[in-house]
Amino acid sequence: MDLKNIIFIIVFLAVIGFFAYSVNNLIKYLKVAKKNDDRFDNIPARLKRVWNIAFAQTKLLRDPVAGTLHLLIFWGFVLFIFAVIETIFQGFYSGFSLSFLGPIYTVITLVQDLFGLLVILSIIFSLYRRFVIKVPRLVVDKHGMLDAAFILLLIMFIVISMYGQNAAGFANNGMVYHESELRPVSAFISGVLFSGETSTTVFLYEFFWWMHILLIFGFLNYLPYSKHLHVLSSIPNVFFANLDPVRNTIKKLNLDDENADTFGVADIDQFSWKQILDGYSCTECGRCTSVCPANTVGKSLSPRDIIVDIRKRTLDKAPLLVEGKTEGELFEKTLVHNYITDTALWECTTCMACVQECPVMIEHVDSIVDMRRNLVLTESEFPSNLNNVFKSLETNFTPWVFNPADRANWADGMNIKSMAEDKDGEILFWVGCAGSFDDRYKKVSKAFATIMQKAGVDFRILGTEEKCNGDTARRLGNEYLAQMMMQENVETLNNYGVKKIVTACPHCFHSLKNEYPQFGGNFEVKHHTQFIEELLAGGNIQLKKDTEKHKVTYHDSCYLGRYNGVYDSPRNSLDLVTGIDLVEMERSKSKGFCCGAGGGRMFLEDEEGGRINEERTKEALSTNADTIASACPFCMTMMTDGVKHFEKTEEVAVKDIAEIILENIN
Ligand code: SF4
Ligand code: SF4
Repeated sequence: MDLKNIIFIIVFLAVIGFFAYSVNNLIKYLKVAKKNDDRFDNIPARLKRVWNIAFAQTKLLRDPVAGTLHLLIFWGFVLFIFAVIETIFQGFYSGFSLSFLGPIYTVITLVQDLFGLLVILSIIFSLYRRFVIKVPRLVVDKHGMLDAAFILLLIMFIVISMYGQNAAGFANNGMVYHESELRPVSAFISGVLFSGETSTTVFLYEFFWWMHILLIFGFLNYLPYSKHLHVLSSIPNVFFANLDPVRNTIKKLNLDDENADTFGVADIDQFSWKQILDGYSCTECGRCTSVCPANTVGKSLSPRDIIVDIRKRTLDKAPLLVEGKTEGELFEKTLVHNYITDTALWECTTCMACVQECPVMIEHVDSIVDMRRNLVLTESEFPSNLNNVFKSLETNFTPWVFNPADRANWADGMNIKSMAEDKDGEILFWVGCAGSFDDRYKKVSKAFATIMQKAGVDFRILGTEEKCNGDTARRLGNEYLAQMMMQENVETLNNYGVKKIVTACPHCFHSLKNEYPQFGGNFEVKHHTQFIEELLAGGNIQLKKDTEKHKVTYHDSCYLGRYNGVYDSPRNSLDLVTGIDLVEMERSKSKGFCCGAGGGRMFLEDEEGGRINEERTKEALSTNADTIASACPFCMTMMTDGVKHFEKTEEVAVKDIAEIILENIN
């Protein structure tokens, strides 16, 4: 062991010690979060998810340019780990080499050498995108920009020092490769700069060796304190991500907890450890904010900022909590209000576009709903017009001021039986509040009921026994009201022994299908677009041979599409109609743009920025379609308002899938 090895061992121990200290602190901060969240189930599925999302980067590759760039940087990084391992062992024993791996070593060295170039090119391109063309989603505050530049340059110098070390090593070996080694780029550099071993090449080898390892050690210890903390936490975050294929099923809040003096989340210690880990894992890539409908139209909500603010607050407050402190200036602030504004929280449509796009599987909507729960249930701080909505839900069981006794009036004269009259139907048609009370959507209820009658489906309705499904109250944070209605509905449905439900409302569909099991309601639930598709496929209804020509564009409902993956059913039915030319909007299916009404936004005023429905309608109108097809009462209202705004009501109709199909069947 020579002096170099002794110095290295001292440096190595100091570096590892400091790194362990930093990571231990981060783990302690996670433990500050009190909300229970068990994410240790189904390990094989979690590992599979890690492979798909973290290693194969399937999410990022939806954007071919940035995705490929990131994939290259990531895999280049993984392969450099072999170089790091070799260099670390050389610190302990100068002559160490992984060459005993034989041909594997040849592959490793070749790939490292070639990937090094690609990594340098990718970093130059990333710097160009961030600092020259300033891709909007990559522009963050000054500190974030400096941090990004620093880390990218650090990686670049790690690669450059690797080339320096290898080129000098090649010269020191008499301008030939070491055993099993294949590094054409390094050999080329060596050939340009050197002609064989000299005192300079010996010095340069040592210089670049130390530069390489010290930069790596510096990088490692900088990570826990930089926005690139995600390099350490993003793979664990993907591992612990929600495994449920139906994303964002809101979790039940235990309202019977006698020890709880608050509900929801006002500050980081009320989150779960996973929600704090989300904060650690944000890469600040801005993909979420770039697709956020609220942000797109100029509102202050930015899902990236929500997550970054959770991290900032954690790093501000958690160290004090860990030290047992409970007083001081920071304790006079809370995450909600001081870091994240109420306005931003109320602007979310819960459209899930952010969750869909996030490459590290961050669950923004859960955190937003948790913070809304605090505002409503603990602080009673919510926009004033929600007073009427909550009051109406409590007394009329619908967000609008309608008499619950009128709920089944839409069906007058249609000879539709209620469950109370005869419960032996084949399926229950869950009509929903809009389908029962909204003049426009009552026509959709009638159209769908007529289709079922033509198909000979023996269906029933609950009539006046149906209550709001609870989605609006739940997404608005009023879990108390939501649970009340959900429990009452489950009781009614179970009393009648209901097994199958069909509904024309994606919000009812999502709740009944995915959230009612939390309350003992387990039903087979279909959306009416799925049901219509089946009726057509089964020949229960026949399309006319010659139908009017129409150019139609279909607007995806978030709760049908992103929440439940139902993209094809409405399109398949429209495709079968001979006269329909179906055209897609630029943003469709999983990239679909929200209408602006979800998450209770239907009942809130726009306090700032533009209107989301107008942005979406503009996109629909740009297809030159004469019909905008929708499959959701909220979407229909928003798109209809949008068409009115652009004064296109004469040229463009907004119709539900059921209405279009009814027009085109015998
Ligand atoms: S759910 Fe939609 S509206 Fe809410 S933050 Fe995410 S992208 Fe924005
Ligand atoms: S939350 Fe996800 S998508 Fe948004 S900036 Fe962070 S890593 Fe990117």
